[in-house]
Amino acid sequence: MDTVSILGLPIRRVSTEQALAFVTDAIARRDRPRHIVTADASMAVIARRDPELRAIIAAADLVTPDGFGILWASRLLRTPITHKVSGVDLVGHVCRLSTECGWRVFFLGAAPGVAEEAAARLRAWYPGAQIVGTQDGYFTPDQEPDVLARIRAAAPDVLLVAFGIPKQEKWIARHRAELNIPISVGVGGSFDVYSGRVKRAPVWMQEHGWEWLHRLASNPKKIGKVMTLPEFVLLALRQRFLGAS
Ligand code: UDP
Repeated sequence: MDTVSILGLPIRRVSTEQALAFVTDAIARRDRPRHIVTADASMAVIARRDPELRAIIAAADLVTPDGFGILWASRLLRTPITHKVSGVDLVGHVCRLSTECGWRVFFLGAAPGVAEEAAARLRAWYPGAQIVGTQDGYFTPDQEPDVLARIRAAAPDVLLVAFGIPKQEKWIARHRAELNIPISVGVGGSFDVYSGRVKRAPVWMQEHGWEWLHRLASNPKKIGKVMTLPEFVLLALRQRFLGAS
């Protein structure tokens, strides 16, 4: 697993199997809490303006390539990454492996009810999956101690946090030591997708770089995220032709 720098993000060239082996190993060792970041094009742009997020990504234990934009830029930069490991994919694989390995998984984030709906559908797909707790992502600072206590009491092996970028990464970094969970991952809009409330783009759109258009059509509020894409393209071209990252 080598590391490729895409607009300054240290992205690991990793297969889904290698990412899951990393999770398996961390749960077996239980020696320290590990943070997996799934990095997409919008994260690369946001991190340029957000030194706290940059530091968190630099300190993460595994940064995976998430999305067509990163794969496109890696080819442009002559350091091709051919496989993506997205947050949505990781959620599905972790729940699948939970049935085989008994991993305890906690879903934190999304609007009230969404994480429960996602958990119910994933339990139906993977009977026996140990989804040991859910909590929406709209609690107040006053409620946070209770949320932390509930997570600790559930004793998860994997904490999936869906607050969007960069809130989820900052929350994981802030609480990772006290929670001491083997694996925490920021998974963006994954619970919206698994709950069935948001439809994922057709595979041909995902594979040809049109997922952003599908997201925008199904939720015009996504315009902020989509607006980072032209900047991402320009920054990648600059890194390629001027060598600046
Ligand atoms: N969200 C949340 N708490 C917040 C803000 C957002 O739980 O304070 C949730 C939101 O409901 C959605 C997810 O975070 O389920 C963000 O999804 P998005 O697809 O926007 O994530 P990104 O594109 O940043 O990965």
